[in-house]
Amino acid sequence: MDIRVEQGCPQCGAQVVLNETDQVLTCSFCSTKNYLQTSGPFRYVLPMAGRASSAGLLLAPYLRFKGTIYLVTDRGIEHRVIDTTQVANPAPGLPPSLGLRPQAMQLSRIDPEAGNRFLLQTIKAGAILEKAAAIGNLITQGGEALRHRAYIGESLSYIYLPLVAKEHGLYDGVTDGRLLNLDALDGHPLQGKRFDEAWQVRFLATLCPQCGAGLDGAGDCRVMTCANCQSAWAIGPEGLSQIDWRLQPGNVNTSLYLPFWKITAHIPALSIYSFADFVERANHPFLPRPQWRERAMSLWIPAVKLRPKIFLQAGRQATLSQWLVQPEEGRTTPNLFPVTLPASEARQAVKLMLAAATASPKRIFPYLPQVQLTEVVTQLVYLPCVDKGHDWVQPETGVTIAKNILRFGRSL
Ligand SMILES: [Zn+2]
Ligand SMILES: [Zn+2]
Repeated sequence: MDIRVEQGCPQCGAQVVLNETDQVLTCSFCSTKNYLQTSGPFRYVLPMAGRASSAGLLLAPYLRFKGTIYLVTDRGIEHRVIDTTQVANPAPGLPPSLGLRPQAMQLSRIDPEAGNRFLLQTIKAGAILEKAAAIGNLITQGGEALRHRAYIGESLSYIYLPLVAKEHGLYDGVTDGRLLNLDALDGHPLQGKRFDEAWQVRFLATLCPQCGAGLDGAGDCRVMTCANCQSAWAIGPEGLSQIDWRLQPGNVNTSLYLPFWKITAHIPALSIYSFADFVERANHPFLPRPQWRERAMSLWIPAVKLRPKIFLQAGRQATLSQWLVQPEEGRTTPNLFPVTLPASEARQAVKLMLAAATASPKRIFPYLPQVQLTEVVTQLVYLPCVDKGHDWVQPETGVTIAKNILRFGRSL
């Protein structure tokens, strides 16, 4: 379930409601379009009881992770969709989790002008994610080797709980419930630091850095395209950066173009330098063609959010069939499905896709901890799909995705 965030339009000030993962804001009042640029996760604050202001209050940090945790062991690949909000500071009295609260409320972004103090995050994100993996039972069992674990995030953010000190007690500002007696702090009052400049979210115009035309992209997209100069731009911590993109031409039957991140690399730990090397190392029951010796090996990762099983299937199918497509220069066309999984998350999925695309786990899984990619080139490739009733089917590779899954994936 998605969290809703109240956001003031930077142009006209109107209140717009966004999904937590939205990074492009189109104001329904003044029609301006901006994207949100930040160097780290978004940070939100829960609303106070009775809509009181939380200005000046102490705020306690919670890490929110929504996404899929994958575990690779010799038993295979397990996965679970996780949606958790865990406390990131061990101060006494704080609820260990926010439970379902954030989903039932409209959050706001933390405001640098509000004079809040922020309890430090002293529990690292990695430790919180490991705990989430343990809760999801995605841990190795009795002496079994952990081959790989991946966290493919839909969203990672911080949600702050406002704390109110009154009547010698500390109160949860959202429920007005008493958390502890202040004397339980034993003379060590909770202290926070000021708003950190690095948390600042900037609104920037969605104009093509190359030609100045307006860029196209849905609210939850991570890549915007320019129909004027046919360029594509990833929204990243530094703003917009141009990406290398391709498109496999479709025909009159094409009703949708589905994006993949194509990550081309050498994998020295497995002696994989070409597609032929991969086919042999992964023990596929077909003979590499001579020209595959010259063909670089790429891992194809769906650039959209999908349920884990379909994500692995689609990536595996595209990876195995990569020799069947010849993408051309990227160009805008109707029906480009929005890129909702950024390249940074796709890179987290590389070892996972290697594991998913092998015919023989024994020949790949034990080497995964040593796998490091070199000579990495990342491209975005759009593949044409045809409408087959309940499914989208990619004719060259055979990638098949149920239509309801693709819709579901946008609000996983
Ligand atoms: Zn506006
Ligand atoms: Zn342009």
